[in-house]
Amino acid sequence: MQLTDYIRTIKDFPKKGISYKDITPLLLNPEACELVVSEFIKGLEGKPIDKVVGIESRGFLFGMLLAKALNVGFVPIRKPGKLPSQTFSQSYDLEYGSDTIEIHKDDIKKGERIILHDDLLATGGTAAAACQLIEKLGGEIVQVNFLIELDFLEGRKHLPKANVNSLVHY
Ligand code: IMP
Repeated sequence: MQLTDYIRTIKDFPKKGISYKDITPLLLNPEACELVVSEFIKGLEGKPIDKVVGIESRGFLFGMLLAKALNVGFVPIRKPGKLPSQTFSQSYDLEYGSDTIEIHKDDIKKGERIILHDDLLATGGTAAAACQLIEKLGGEIVQVNFLIELDFLEGRKHLPKANVNSLVHY
């Protein structure tokens, strides 16, 4: 089974010039989802983990499955104004303008060993901001994992300290 068989490219979505990687065919297939989780776990053998952090919204899908498989807690990083308790915020630059993400202040304790997960690494701005939030709370980032990495955008350059693990490369 090849994961790439379950990822389709939609041209000009959400706007002209963008080739969007769509994982919804993969979500329809339980065996492919199982394969994703087992591939992530393979890269974590022998590493104690306390929590998985997932980035809104597609990072919640496999982030939660991975947390369940590792038998650890899941922490959501969300867009502004969505988390109800006290938060820390981090802004980051986009091609045009900026964006902000938030985390609950009490979701990570100092010294906890964290996996950060998102569905896709593009320019790396989102994941770099998420790393800053985790580090602000004292979390130790053991690995940053992605289902998909767009190599040509060189997003890894924004994650110089991280152990980055992506399952599918384009
Ligand atoms: P970055 O900050 O440029 O690395 O963008 C990564 C974020 O944008 C992730 O949260 C992705 O979910 C989203 N994203 C960017 N391009 C795509 C795509 O082609 N398919 C799905 N999500 C994407």
